[in-house]
Amino acid sequence: MASRVRTNTRRMHKLRDEFFEQGKLLNTAGDVDADCWLCKEGIDYDADPGSTPASHNLDHFFSVDDYPELQEDPTNFRHSHTLCNQARGKNAPSLGLGDAVPDWW
Ligand SMILES: [Zn+2]
Repeated sequence: MASRVRTNTRRMHKLRDEFFEQGKLLNTAGDVDADCWLCKEGIDYDADPGSTPASHNLDHFFSVDDYPELQEDPTNFRHSHTLCNQARGKNAPSLGLGDAVPDWW
């Protein structure tokens, strides 16, 4: 069993909320930095974070498993789709929305 260092602190909740709001503002301004950094497509900022595949998710550029000290470091945050973040797991980014390899492959 891998050691899980990921925590779910009140501070992390606040950081996630702030990061989402920041992305929302960038998106409203038409800034491409608000788009998913994994597939470069626009994120659905109208949906609650994590509620749909195209909704916003806070991704860590350096994975929390490998760099627990960067978990709450905003410079390590990236805007991503919930689906892209899940597809990435802790691997290097390569999969995008609609680009995922089927389970049977
Ligand atoms: Zn994406």
